[in-house]
Amino acid sequence: MSDIKRNLERLRSKIPSGVKLVAVSKFQPVEALREAYDAGQRVFGESRVQELLGKIPLLPTDVRWHFIGHLQTNKVRQLIGAVSLIESVDSMRLLSLIDEESRKKDVRTRVLLQVHVAREETKFGFSPEELISFFDNRQFESLSHVSICGLMAMATNTSDKEVIREDFSIVHSLFTGLKEKLCGQMPRHRALEEFNQISMGMSSDWQIAVEVGATIIRVGSAIFGERHY
Ligand SMILES: *Cc1c(COP(=O)(O)O)cnc(C)c1O
Repeated sequence: MSDIKRNLERLRSKIPSGVKLVAVSKFQPVEALREAYDAGQRVFGESRVQELLGKIPLLPTDVRWHFIGHLQTNKVRQLIGAVSLIESVDSMRLLSLIDEESRKKDVRTRVLLQVHVAREETKFGFSPEELISFFDNRQFESLSHVSICGLMAMATNTSDKEVIREDFSIVHSLFTGLKEKLCGQMPRHRALEEFNQISMGMSSDWQIAVEVGATIIRVGSAIFGERHY
């Protein structure tokens, strides 16, 4: 059995049902993705637009692609219609642009809003306060062609499990708080009908993320091995 297949089977045996596994295949050759596909994996995550668009025609059409990297506004148009979820929407400008390009192509694009909770300056994303005011001020009302399916986050890059757990807990309580705000609104605005997902946890910390309430985990090196940049 190949390493990839063995890694996937081991992971699947540990992940609770109801948690979706995204196989993060950035920088991996297409053969590695095919092995994962043959082992039953259907959801793949990529972080660069050109690499993703290059891989799509090389894999079967039932693969669902998640975009997980920082998305530059000049690349939005190419991505619309090609992916099943854009996990890394990190600004209002990007969100409006995705909405506008989706309207032009007459498609509805599913997205997650990326929250910045890590204690590093380098990570992209909204602050929890920005998201709370986005919901309170009903800034989503102008959106017609995106569906905001939940939140995405990365923990601080540390081996301190308690710090990681605190970061993930902030995301989970933010999510719960936002969901409560939605319950107060009937009927719920269409852009938020599917607000149900929390994507957090990678190879080194997915167990903690699942304990804290992740519904999507994004695992790369624990499936494919080290990346060759
Ligand atoms: C690369 C990446 C991952 C996967 O990281 P691993 O440590 O290889 O599991 C998850 N999420 C995002 C946003 C990434 O860029």
